[in-house]
Amino acid sequence: MYRSFNPATGETIAEFPFAEDAAVEAAMANGHRAAARWRAADLAERRTALTRLADCLERDADTHARLIALEMGKPIASARAEVIKCATNCRWYADHGEALLAPEAVPHPGGEAEVRHEPLGVVFAVMPWNFPYWQVVRFLAPALMAGNAVILKHASSTPQCAAALEAAGIEAGLPEHVFQNLYLDRAQLERVIADPRIAAVTLTGSEGAGMSVGAASGRALKPCVLELGGSDPLIVMPSADLGRAVAAAVTGRYQNSGQSCVCAKRILVHRDIYPAFRQAFLAAVAKLRTGDPFDSATDLGPLSSPQARDELAAQVARAIDQGASLLAGGSAMAGPGAYYEPTVLEGLPEGAEARVEEMFGPVALLFEVADIDEAIRVANETPFGLGSSVWTEDGGERRRFADDLACGMTFFNANTVSDPALPFGGIKRSGFGRELGRWGMMAFVNVRLVFSA
Ligand code: NDP
Repeated sequence: MYRSFNPATGETIAEFPFAEDAAVEAAMANGHRAAARWRAADLAERRTALTRLADCLERDADTHARLIALEMGKPIASARAEVIKCATNCRWYADHGEALLAPEAVPHPGGEAEVRHEPLGVVFAVMPWNFPYWQVVRFLAPALMAGNAVILKHASSTPQCAAALEAAGIEAGLPEHVFQNLYLDRAQLERVIADPRIAAVTLTGSEGAGMSVGAASGRALKPCVLELGGSDPLIVMPSADLGRAVAAAVTGRYQNSGQSCVCAKRILVHRDIYPAFRQAFLAAVAKLRTGDPFDSATDLGPLSSPQARDELAAQVARAIDQGASLLAGGSAMAGPGAYYEPTVLEGLPEGAEARVEEMFGPVALLFEVADIDEAIRVANETPFGLGSSVWTEDGGERRRFADDLACGMTFFNANTVSDPALPFGGIKRSGFGRELGRWGMMAFVNVRLVFSA
C-alpha cells in the first residue's frame, strides 16, 4: 500500500493500492512499444516535449509545491524552488541535448568510424521521497531527451507527487506510455528489473535499497546507476571568510530538514578558528525556525515520518553514549508531527561509530582538527564518498584538498549542490554512475560504433 501521510500532523491523507500484476505487465508492454516509437521521434519533438514539461511545472509550481509539503514536510518555499529547478533541468536538456547526442567521427587509420548515441529502451527508476520531484526529473530529462521511455516506482510515501509528475508529462505532450508511474511492491519491483523489456535501472535511495536494486540489476545484467547516501564533510580553514562559512554550514546541514544526501553532515573546523566558528554556528542554529511547512517563515519542517524521527533520536542517543557532547537540541518535539530539534554535537572520539554513519535529519557533528592532514584524514574516514565543501582562500590548500579528498564532488567556498550542467554522484558506499550534464545523459545511451573499412 502506498500511503500519503502528512508528517507535520500525523494524518493519513490517502492510500493507494499496489498495481495489479496485469497492470504491471501492460505497463511494460506499452512502455516497450512506446520506447520503439520514441527512439524514432526526431530530436525537435523530444525537445518540444521537454520544454512543455518545463512550462507545465512552472505554471503549476504552487500546486506541486503543496503536494511536496504535504507528503514529506518540506517547507513550502523550498518545495517551490525544487519544482522550478526541475523545469530548469528540462530546459537545460532541451537546449543541450542535440549537441550532446550528436554523432562523433573518430579518426582511425583503418576506415571511417562514427560513434552514435542511441537510446537503450525502457529505463526503470526507483526513487526516494526527500526531493520527490527533483530526484525524478534529474534523471528523467536526459533519459527522455536521449529517446528512452521511463517507468517510475516512486517512494511509497509520495504517491501523489508521483502521480502529479506523470500527469504533467502527459499534459506536456509526451507520447502515451513514454513516462509511466507504477505503485509497486518489492516482488513486483524485482520482476520488473528482471524483465527483458527493461533495458536499464536507476535508483536514488539508501544503501540497503542500493544493494538490493544493484544485485537485481546484476542478476539481470542490466546497467544501473546508484545514488546512495553520504556523510559529506564541510571543512573550514583559517583563511576562510568566517561569516560566509558559518552561513554555508547552517544551510548545508539543515537544508531539507537535514534530509539530503549531500547535506554537510560533518563540519570540520581548524583549531585556530574553532572557538569563533562554534560560537557563531550555535548562534545561527538557535535562530532556525522549526514549524509548519506551509508557513513561509519556516526553515525546518518535520522529518519525513515518525519512524525516521525515532531512528534519528536513537542515533543521537548512541552518539552521546559514545562520548559526544550535546551543544543544542537533542530531542523530538512534542505533538503529533515528526519534528526533531535542530541539534549540534561535538567531540565524538576516534573510533566512535557515530563519526562515520549517516544521520538523515537536522543533526550537525562538529570536529576540531589540528591541520590540513587531520582535516583530510577525518574527511575520508567514512565509508561514503559523495560530496565535500571546503572553505579556504589558500591556493596550496585548495590543490591539496582537490587531490586528496576521496569523493565524487568537491566545492570550494560553496556548498555541494546539484546543477544541470555538472556531474553529480559519488564513490565508495555513495554509489556509482553519474547524473546530470553530459554524464547523466551518457548513462542511458548506447555508445554505438559504426565502422566502415
Ligand atoms: P529508501 O532507500 O528506503 O527508499 C528509496 C526508494 O527505494 C523507495 O522507492 C523505496 O521504496 C525503495 N526501496 C527501499 N528499500 C528497497 C529494497 N530493499 N529494494 C528495492 N527498493 C527499495 O530510502 P529511505 O526512505 O529509507 O531514506 C533513507 C536513506 O536513504 C537515507 O539515510 C539516505 O542515506 C538515503 N537517501 C539517499 C538519497 C540520495 O539522494 N542519494 C535520497 C534519499 C535517501 P519504498 O518507499 O516502497 O520502500
